[in-house]
Amino acid sequence: MKFNYPVLTKPEKCQHCKTCIAACPVGAIKDVDPRFELDMSKCATRTDCFSCVMHCKGHALILKQADTTEKINIVVQ
Ligand code: SF4
Ligand code: SF4
Repeated sequence: MKFNYPVLTKPEKCQHCKTCIAACPVGAIKDVDPRFELDMSKCATRTDCFSCVMHCKGHALILKQADTTEKINIVVQ
């Protein structure tokens, strides 16, 4: 199944505000210091969601399309 997941394309713009974590309706983004990790299986349950990207204060996130079988864990370093 294809779905959209968030990617940090501009790490220098990340303010580490954790707004993306709070904005996720399924708790897919976890703060595992010193980075944030994305639980792909949780994110994939919301195929039309872009809440974290929309709320990102630093405009540091974009959505990218992937297959649920791909392994992509790190959102914010
Ligand atoms: S796209 Fe939606 S479900 Fe996925 S991490 Fe962002 S807020 Fe959570
Ligand atoms: S990715 Fe965006 S919302 Fe998340 S901590 Fe960084 S600036 Fe804040």
